[in-house]
Amino acid sequence: MGLTNCARCKRLFQNAGGGVICPDCLEQDEKDFETVNDALRENPNQAVPELAESTGVSERRILRFLEEGRILSDAVAHDVKCGRCGKPAISATLRLCESCSEELARESAQAAAEIKKLQAKQAVSTHDLLEKKLGKNRPGS
Ligand SMILES: [Zn+2]
Ligand SMILES: [Zn+2]
Repeated sequence: MGLTNCARCKRLFQNAGGGVICPDCLEQDEKDFETVNDALRENPNQAVPELAESTGVSERRILRFLEEGRILSDAVAHDVKCGRCGKPAISATLRLCESCSEELARESAQAAAEIKKLQAKQAVSTHDLLEKKLGKNRPGS
């Protein structure tokens, strides 16, 4: 609810329905969707780049339609390859296959753990320094 930046045109709009794009763009989005859908119906074997070229709709948007499950095309789906290993991707927008997305999740969990460790270490050393300083400055010693 309230004001949101449109995901497409970045304009502020009142998203009463909880959507992420403004009404203007929603209309445009529908048109794009229909264009892509029609093109796919005519020629279902088009790959994303061809489809983008023939419809004038950006590849990114076509991939989003695919990700949202609005367009179903084996040809398009198979066109999306994992950006890491080149296997068919399970996520069109992330461009990752199953094993790579798992690996990536593991890596980022690991990285988060490392950062936590580092932060803990830093907190300890700052604490130690403070102790030493306080210890030195303690009157009578
Ligand atoms: Zn918009
Ligand atoms: Zn992969």
